[in-house]
Formats: sequence, structure tokens, C-alpha cells
Amino acid sequence: MDIDWSTDGIVARRERYYAASQRKFVPFKDPLIIKRGRGQYVWDENDNKYIDLLGMNLCISVGHAHPEVVRAATAQVAELTHCTTMFYHPVPAHYAEELAATMPKGHEWVVHFTNSGAEAIDLALLMARAHTGNIDMLALRSSYHGATFGAQALTGIAGFRHNVPQLGGVTFVAEPNQYRGIYGEGVEPYLAEIKRAIDYSTSGRLAGMIIEPVQGYGGIVPMPKGYIKGAAEKVRAAGGLLIIDEVQSGVARTGDAFWSFESHDVVPDIVVVAKGVGNGIPLGAVIAKRDVAESMADKFLFHTYGANPVACAAGRAVLKVIREEKLQENARKVGGALKARLTELKDRFELVGDVRGEGLMLAIELVKDRQTKEPAPDEALAVFEATRRNGLVASRSGPYRNVIRMCPPLCLSMSDVDDVMDRFVRSFEAV
Ligand code: PMP
Repeated sequence: MDIDWSTDGIVARRERYYAASQRKFVPFKDPLIIKRGRGQYVWDENDNKYIDLLGMNLCISVGHAHPEVVRAATAQVAELTHCTTMFYHPVPAHYAEELAATMPKGHEWVVHFTNSGAEAIDLALLMARAHTGNIDMLALRSSYHGATFGAQALTGIAGFRHNVPQLGGVTFVAEPNQYRGIYGEGVEPYLAEIKRAIDYSTSGRLAGMIIEPVQGYGGIVPMPKGYIKGAAEKVRAAGGLLIIDEVQSGVARTGDAFWSFESHDVVPDIVVVAKGVGNGIPLGAVIAKRDVAESMADKFLFHTYGANPVACAAGRAVLKVIREEKLQENARKVGGALKARLTELKDRFELVGDVRGEGLMLAIELVKDRQTKEPAPDEALAVFEATRRNGLVASRSGPYRNVIRMCPPLCLSMSDVDDVMDRFVRSFEAV
């Protein structure tokens, strides 16, 4: 049968053949069919063009259909599409070396490849427990780490936690949200909560703490300077490791650093990466200090597609493109300009409570009242639907669904910035 591109056809097939768990999680009221992507743009089936402000959920880092990535991946598909790590192949080995080289100097880093972020999170959890011999983990409220049992247990948003016995040993502490955190601005009260949690809610001995340097689904919540460093000190004093989730914030996105933790004066023990590393090809990895990873040497942990040569060829091309096209610098420059422009929205629209983020990981938070900061999810939905009509693809996130989240491909250009701003202005005016 030929592919049926009609909206009715796709909707009918999804309704009939997709499980509810995969059918329901959609951003817009009406279906948006994506047919083609180039660079920072996508087109629907009627050839309407959109600025992809989401990088198709952060997977597209260096741009849709980047010729280098396409060339690397297709050449590898044609030569050898798969061999597992039971057999030896140079492409994953080179890529592991290149990923390790992105980590802080002075440590020996090793890599375990997976197919997705959640698998890598599960592995990080296992590794931390194996290495420390401890069980208890700390995680942040408003965090998202994935949909597997391990990752779900570390996820601090009710909508992503299913009604089943969750994997035990996880204690949540308040996220240091500088806009609406429960202790307000600053770092110390949030660090004090970590100490209280260790002393009163755990065995006193930790396996570790997991942190997204910029919370993604939590509504683009950047960790304030000093928080991760202070948390690491407390966690390490209790025998635990620092696990950093770079699935959304990594790969040059935040502009000032290649991995966002580098802006926080810490060296993690385990780093989890996925999404943007593969530019859309399924790829994830745990990058860990060698002695931490060695703790798992007595057990098999096998991912059939982990270290798949096609994914790793794409991953290598992504690193090369970021370097050659100076995309980290671009994320800093264009992201800074976009944030400055979006901040102007605050002067024009009362609904805009906060504009925040780092590099090309930005958000607009909508509130009914700037004093009380009461979330405005309905208004956010209305603005969001209008952005689509104005040719933007973004997403809504945050525990109150009142945050418009932007994480475009890193090749977003200065000329796109004015375009994005115009479209937001029109979208706010329409509401
Ligand atoms: N960590 C973070 C911060 C994420 O945003 C996600 C996915 N949205 C994951 C982990 C899980 O990745 P995946 O969906 O590839 O399993």
C-alpha cells in the first residue's frame, strides 16, 4: 500500500493501532504532520514551513538532515548496519574515545552506549549502587529522567509516574527554582534541605544524587550557580556519587560549555547523554569515571543495539559538525540574542511572568498575576496554539503546563531571531 499522507488517514490509523500510552502525548489540539526537515525548519504535508523551536524534542542538534550526518549514517548503513559489542568495530571505539575527550581532564572516562536516555539513566543508577554499595538516591522535584522503571523512580513529576510500586530508595528534594521555588531565591535553603533529607529520610549513606543542570520537562529550570557544587559536597560526604543528566542540556546547547555541568565548577562521577548526540538517530550513553564503571565488571549488562555503528557514525559526525560550524558559540550568541528579545515580551504582555534559560534552551513562563505568580496554563495553551498558526513549533512544559519551552537546533540563526520574536508577538496579541 502507498503511504497515505492525509490527516484523516494518519489520525484513523493512530487511533486504531497506537496504544493509548503512545497516542496521547501530543503538543497541539490538532494533529501536526511533519513531512520534511532541513536545518532549523520543518514542513508539514501541505508544505507549510515552521521554525522548529524544539529540535523535534531536542533530538535535532546540528540541524535536520545535516549532510555530514546523513552521509556518515547512510555510508555506515550500506557497509554494515549492525554488529553488537560481541564483535569488534572501529567506529564505536573511535566515538567512545571522542566522547571521553569531551569530559573534564584529569580523569579516565569510559563509555557504555545505549539506545535511549532512559536506558542510560537505569544503567547510571545501577552503576552508582554497585560502586558505592549504597541504595539511597536523591533526586529533584520537577525532574524528568525517562520512562523505564529506574528512570521513572527518579522522576519528580506525578504525570510521568505510573500507579505501580515504584522502585524504592529515592528521596526527592525541592528543585532550586529561582522563579517559584518553595524557598524563593538563593541556594542555601535548598542545600540545607539536601542535608535534612540525608539525615532524616535516608539511611544516611547514599548511592548518589541525580541532577539535570537545566531541568527540561520541569519547565526549563536552570540550576543556580553553587547549587550543584554544594549538593555534590553533601552527597559525597554521605558516600554518594554525582550523576548528571545531560540528555536535554548537553551537546553545546547551553552555549557557555559543551556539557552544561561544566558551567558549575564540578566534575561528576557519571554523565548521562542521549537525544542531541545522535541528531535524531537513537543513541544514548553513560560516560563514567573508569573506577565507577569498573564496579559492574562482574555482571553482563548488554544492550543489543548499544554501540550500533550507524548511530555511532552519526554521533561522530555530530561532534565534528559542532566543532567545525562553531555551533556552541552560535548557541551562546543566538540564544543570548533570542533571550534578550523574548525578555521584551515582559514589557508588552502582563501574562509573561518570566523569561529564562541558557543558550538555546529557553522558556517563557505565563502567569495570571505577576505578584502571586499564579500559573496560567489555559492562557499558555492559547498562546501556544497561536504560535503554531504563526509557524512555530515549540512545546509546553512545567508541572503547571504554563511554560513555553524552546530548544531549537543549534544552527538557529540571527535572522531567525527577529522572525521568532514577530511570531511570538502576533501569538500573544491574538490571545
Ligand atoms: N533525561 C531527560 C532530561 C529527558 O528529557 C529525557 C527524555 N525526554 C530522558 C532522560 C529520557 O530519554 P529517552 O526518552 O531517550 O529515554
